Parts: sequence; structure tokens; C-alpha cells
Amino acid sequence: MNNQSLGGFEMTKYVYMFSEGDASMRNLLGGKGANLAEMVGLGLPVPNGFIVTTEACNRYYSDQMTITPEIQDEIFSSLAEMEQLAGKVFGDPERPLLLSVRSGARASMPGMMDTVLNLGMNDAVADGLAKLTDNRRFVFDSYRRFIMMFSDVVMDISRSFYEQAFEQVKKERGVQTDLELDADDLELIVSKFKEIYLREKGESFPQDVKEQLILSVEAVFRSWNTERAVYYRQMHNIPARWGTAVNIQEMVYGNMGDTSGTGVAFSRNPATGENKLYGEYLMNAQGEDVVAGVRTPFTIDHLQEQMPEIYQQFADITQQLERHYGDMQDLEFTIENGKLYILQTRNGKRTATAALQIAVDLVAEGLTSREEALLSIDPKQLDALLHPTFDPNALEAATRIAKGLPASPGAATGQIAFTAEQATAAKEAKRPVILVREETSPEDIQGMNAAEGILTARGGMTSHAAVVARGMGKCCVSGCSEALINASNQTMTISGRVFGCDDFISLDGSTGIVYEGSIATVKAEMSSNFQTIMEWADEISDMTVRANADTPHDSQVARDLGAQGIGLTRTEHMFFEAERVFLFRQMIVARNEADRRKALAKIKPMQQEDFLGLFRVMDGLPVIIRLLDPPLHEFLPTAEGEIKELADELDITYERLQEIINELHELNPMLGHRGCRLAVSYPEIAEMQTEAIIGAALQAAAEGIVVKPEIMVPLICEVKELEFVNRTIKTTADRLIADSGQPLKYWVGTMIEIPRACLTADEVAEEADFFSFGTNDLTQMTYGLSRDDAGKILETYYQAGIFEVDPTAQLDRVGVGALMRTAVELGRKTKPELELGICGEHGGDPSSVEFCQILGLDYVSCSPYRVPIAKLAAAQSALRYPRK
Ligand code: ADP
Ligand code: MG
Ligand code: MG
Repeated sequence: MNNQSLGGFEMTKYVYMFSEGDASMRNLLGGKGANLAEMVGLGLPVPNGFIVTTEACNRYYSDQMTITPEIQDEIFSSLAEMEQLAGKVFGDPERPLLLSVRSGARASMPGMMDTVLNLGMNDAVADGLAKLTDNRRFVFDSYRRFIMMFSDVVMDISRSFYEQAFEQVKKERGVQTDLELDADDLELIVSKFKEIYLREKGESFPQDVKEQLILSVEAVFRSWNTERAVYYRQMHNIPARWGTAVNIQEMVYGNMGDTSGTGVAFSRNPATGENKLYGEYLMNAQGEDVVAGVRTPFTIDHLQEQMPEIYQQFADITQQLERHYGDMQDLEFTIENGKLYILQTRNGKRTATAALQIAVDLVAEGLTSREEALLSIDPKQLDALLHPTFDPNALEAATRIAKGLPASPGAATGQIAFTAEQATAAKEAKRPVILVREETSPEDIQGMNAAEGILTARGGMTSHAAVVARGMGKCCVSGCSEALINASNQTMTISGRVFGCDDFISLDGSTGIVYEGSIATVKAEMSSNFQTIMEWADEISDMTVRANADTPHDSQVARDLGAQGIGLTRTEHMFFEAERVFLFRQMIVARNEADRRKALAKIKPMQQEDFLGLFRVMDGLPVIIRLLDPPLHEFLPTAEGEIKELADELDITYERLQEIINELHELNPMLGHRGCRLAVSYPEIAEMQTEAIIGAALQAAAEGIVVKPEIMVPLICEVKELEFVNRTIKTTADRLIADSGQPLKYWVGTMIEIPRACLTADEVAEEADFFSFGTNDLTQMTYGLSRDDAGKILETYYQAGIFEVDPTAQLDRVGVGALMRTAVELGRKTKPELELGICGEHGGDPSSVEFCQILGLDYVSCSPYRVPIAKLAAAQSALRYPRK
């Protein structure tokens, strides 16, 4: 689309005027640029501009981080076009054009990339602009902002030098806010800023405006690969190859005086979903002032009193855009001398609660379809709704210590962390913390993610902390000005009381209240919106969602959350309890079949009771129970005392037991004596487990329960293994069923988790009623990378750009995917009715669920709390990849 035939040969176009683009060109123009172009097309008041494409960003990287002369030429000819439109000239003191240079990737990455405003300012332009506007204060306010942003974003000079100089002047003048500084003060600040620049760079602040522009474009491209951008991409699954576009736009000035201002707003409440314009603004301010919390902003309602016509115009535009996009919009606006400009719109980030409310409302209002509404909800966000809230009784008894803004709902308890590093370290030590900051910045992202919740002293509902926390589904209280935070002393003082790193606090993100100490939490309640969305999802999905659940309790949780069966019961998990583990150990250390059978006989009733519980809970739904899988030595004691105790109980000597333990020791247990290999070596184990499963199923059926037992054999690499184990299972099961005199249908299948099983799936399918992809092991074996040791390796790999995501968390479609595809094709060739599913951790990961839809699987299975996520992801996948 962006190839133009010029003089007979194809040339890629790297720069587009806003008027040449529209919302459909998001991949090329980035989200912000595409939406700016779309708004220009709608005739909205958007300052002029043009977009340097994401492909230019990729070119920049492939051209050794330079912008080629051809692309520079394109930029400057678009700039000339813009000058025509604006009636202003870049760098001309008589009628200067100033620019904003903004990043904008395909997916919105709020706060991740950097913006430079008032570009094109220099000494001569400042003089000229002062004459032209007769407003020196405005001119030097713009100039000082430009120097600081350019220094920070483009030249990598620390903002703090500038902030200190700024604070210094404020202090000398005895004022609290930037508003109280006059033109002379700001001019003084500009000269101080220039000195800082000279000191730090060893050269004067660049007066050549074209140089300013090209350097800034390069800086936006570079910002695509900053550490925080890379981290954000990883978290949100954004590939590095997308690149960012650069938006170059005429400046409009919110800092021209009392009839100017700037703000941000959402067309609906992003915390609750309430259908009411929601936002904040500041008069005589610019850029990120509102978000950065330099002064406390007004709520948008106040604009209705202050500038009723502007308010009405703005409210109408938000409605128009919401209708146009069929979704809640997040807008940025500036008022210049009483005239409104829209600087950005995008589908707004929102809390999970709001996401559901808005989706249901938009459908009811006829603004969007069910399908679109389902697609608008981020499945991962649902997580936030499934997590506990404070126990009302415990809350009653708790002591409130402060109140801030309810920036992102949820309940969080933890000790205080004053820095992102502390929070990250605490997370590693599995210690819950609340990250407490004056305000957060993009550098804090990792720490915010590690914390249970975030408390800030400054900043409003649209501050960095609030926006990012909502995106993460993390509890956040912002703008809690009662909290005096001293990060260097590691203290937070509230009404004279001092809190430190050892103290617990609790946050209620829905009320903004901060409590002392830790508070007990209770299970989340499913709202009716939640139920509605889940029903819509079920109607649309091709796949069902089962749960991985090992106990009747977990199964009940799963069923309450909408699970449509059990995809995996790990029978060994039933033996972690102290009393049972002894019997299990007795079975493991038995050195002959008779002893083993003795131990198994004691275990059987317990297993049967557990299975009965599962069948009761899952009445009418399929239940897959997997035979014993783990390396046996995992269950053996290692401490000397424990070994002695076990030896006594077993009535053998310590030395004998130690000998047995040594015999059981394996060098690579994950590739050792486990899975079906146990059932091959010790058929009596498979026999006992089959008796327990079928016994429980018969018992449940006698109670009137509809049972669908599926027996699953793990770790098959060769069909003859399955044939062997199947003989044990079927003989045992058929004997029990015949003895009972009642009919019972059961299924026997296998995990597909060894590459060889995928490659020979046509043979394996001869012996199997179903396949369940065990993608944890399959991934580990395909990559030859132990999932227990992957952590450190992955870190290095991310940094080296070798991996972008963790293949154990997100299914690898290329390699592991190819094996799965082979298994699906071969398996169905042998047996068209073969039931196919996945039970690895990937079953709850939306991207992996999507891949399962593409492969044509029948179900995915995941942990109970991820069932709703998987259901929504399954519905979205069905919409994106419909099956014939
Ligand atoms: P982000 O992606 O962090 O939202 P933006 O690119 O939207 O960053 O820029 C940040 C802020 O800069 C905007 O919210 C707006 O206030 C200001 N800004 C951007 N472009 C202009 C412009 N043309 N005129 C005036 N202010 C602008
Ligand atoms: Mg920004
Ligand atoms: Mg913005």
C-alpha cells in the first residue's frame, strides 16, 4: 500500500500527512498517528501534522541507526506542506512554527515512549514569538520545557539537574507552583537550563531547528528499545519488529494564560465503567503536567462551570468518537486562548470491572455488537475480578490512616517498599509489599508489577501510577497527599506517625482508603456483568474450557468459575498431605510386588474417595484422571531425621533405607523413571489406580451422578508402551464393571508430551480415545530446556534479543506448534473422532488458547482461576479464526 510508483520504479513511502491516513493504517502509522489521521478525516479540531512510519523505524535499525537522506528529504517536504497549511515557518522568528514530536506504536504503550514539545524553539524564535504574542511568560515557559524535554529524551541528560534548578528558583522566589513564576523568572530558568546543557554536553544548546528535529526523530526510534519499553513489550506480548512511528504535529499552547489549558479525559469512567465523562485538566499548563501531577488538577466537571461552551464542544466530541469507534475513548485535549484542540484519542485502558460494564452497556446501547464487545475485553484482565477483596468484618476492625484517590480497584496488603528495586527483591523473596512512592515513573514499572499494590502521594486518577496500575489489574491508591514520603530515609509519615519498611499497610483501590496493618481478604463475587460476558463467550466458542484440578475443592472452585470438565487430575498431588505421604513412601520403597501391593491396598480407598468427590462435583461433565506421573524420589525424605523416622516406621534399618533411596536416585529424573514407565515397571500401581477410578465412577453412577471418566496415561513415546499399560487398565476396569453388573462407559487416552509421540501419533492413536497435549513437558523437551532451570537463561536471552517471550508461559507456535500440528493431523488420520485437548500451563494463556483454536482442538484445560480468562480467549479466538 505504501509503495508508490515514481518514474517507473517502486519507492517506499515513509512519511504520511495526517490527511493521507486513517484508522485502518494502524500497523504502518502507529495507533496514535492512525487515530489522529482518522480524526482529521472526521473534521475534528486537530492540529496539522504528519507521521514518519513504523517502517521508517525498522529502516533506522537496519541502517545502523541512521535516518537515510531520502527519508530526511521526505520529512522536510512534508514539513514544508505543513508550513503551508499552518501559515507558519519552522525556525522563522517572524511567524515560527513549533512542533510536537511524539512516539506512537501499533499498540498503545502509555508512558513508555518519550515526547518532545515546543521543538523549533531557539533564541531568535523566542524573541520573535515574544513580539508576536506579546506574552513573554508563555514564550519562556515553552522554551524551558523544550530544553528540559530535549535534554532528557534526546540527549539523555538527567531531568533531575533541571528539576533542581527549577525548584531552586521557585524557592528563591518563595513560591509553591510554576504558575507563580513570572516571565523574568522563566527567562532566568531558560538561561540556567542552557548552562546545564553546556556543562553536561560540552556544547551549547542546538539553535539549528532542523538538527533539533532529526535528532528528536532518532530519539523516538531509539526509545523503542529502552529497557522499560522492552519490559513493557514483554509484559504485553508486543513483538520488537513492530517498531514505533513518529508523529510530528503543530504545537497548540495550553500555557498561554488563563483561557488556555490542557487535560485528559475518558468518555466513560475507566475505574467503574459508569457512562459519564470523566477527566482532569489544568489551566495554563502544557503536556504531561496533568499526568505528572505538578499541580492538583480540576475534575472535568469543573470545566463545565469555567468554560461551558468548550466543555459542551468537548463532551460532544467524546460522544462522537465513542460512537465512531464503538468503544470507550481516552482523549487528550488542549485549549489555546479559548479554542479547543484534540491531541489524541484511543480506546481507553480500563479496569476489569469497567471493561465488563462498558462492554455490556455498549451492546445494550446499540453502539457495538456482542462480538466486538467480547473482543474489546483483555482476557488477562479478568484475573483482577477473581481475586479476593477485604473481608468486611476485618475491614470493620481495621484502622484507617489516610485516604487518597481510588485509582485502581482491588485489595492489597503488604509491607512497605520505597523503591522499585525493593519491591522486585521482595517479590523474589515471596514477601508481599506495597510500593509507596511520591509518584511513579516509567522506571518503576517492574517494581509496580512486583508489588501487591501501589500508593502514591501525588498525581490524580490519570497519573502514571493510576494508568499503569489499571493496565496491570493492580490495586492502586494515588494522590494520597496526607502521606509524606521520604524515600531516602525510608519513611512514610502520616499525621505524625512514622511507617517504615517493616510495617504492614493495606490499600483499598476501590475507595482509596489506606489502612494500617494487614487485613484478611475474602473470595471475589461474580457480578452479573461477568456472568453475561461468560454466557456470550460460551455461545461463540468452538472449544470448551476444562480445569486442572486435583481435589474436590479445586474442582468446585473451577465449576463455579464455569469450567466444563476436568482436563487433568494429578493423582500424585493427593499425596502431599502428611498422613498420606507415609503410605506413599511405603509403596515407593517396597522392593517386591507383595510389599508394594500391601501399601497400594491401603492407598486405594483414599484415592477412590477423592475421585468420588471429583465425580460428584463434575456431575455430567468429563473428568480426566492421570495415572501416577512424577519421578518417585520426589516423595522420599532427604533429611537424616526424616529418613530415620521412616526407617523406624517401615521397620527396616536406616542403612537399608538409605540404600534404597540411593538406588532410586536418578541423574536426570525428569527424563527418568516416571510417567507410564512406572506403570510398565509396576503394573500393580496402574491396576490400583484404575480400580480406584472405576470404583469411584461406579459408586457415583449408583448415586445417580452422570460420570464420564477418562483415564490418562502420561509420558508415552512409543505406542507399545500404551498398548502394555492399556492391557492393565482395560482388564481391571472391565472386570470391575462386569462384577458390578451396571454398565459404565470409560475412555483411555494419553498425554502427548514427548516429541516422538507427536511424530508417531498415527500409531499412538490406535490405542487412544483421546490425546491431551502436555505442553509443559513438550516445550521443555522440544527446546531441550529444563523449565526448572530456565529462569536465569531466559533473562540472558531476553537481553540478547534471542527470545522475546518465555516459551513455558506462551506456547511456541513455530517449533512446539509444528509438533502439535503433526500430532493432530496424524492422530485424526487414524481416528477422526479422537478427542483433542491441552492441559499444560499454556491452557490459560490467551495467545496459546488462540493457537489451540487454530489447531482445531476440542478443549483447553487450565488452573481454576484462569478458566474465565481461557473462556473469553476461546471466544475471541473463535471470532478471529472461525472454523468451517
Ligand atoms: P503519551 O503517549 O505518553 O500520551 P503523547 O504523545 O500523547 O504521549 O504526548 C504527551 C502530551 O504532550 C500530550 O498529552 C499533550 O498534552 C502534549 N502534546 C502532544 N502533542 C501536542 C501538540 N501538538 N500541542 C500541544 N501539546 C501536545
Ligand atoms: Mg508521554
Ligand atoms: Mg498521550
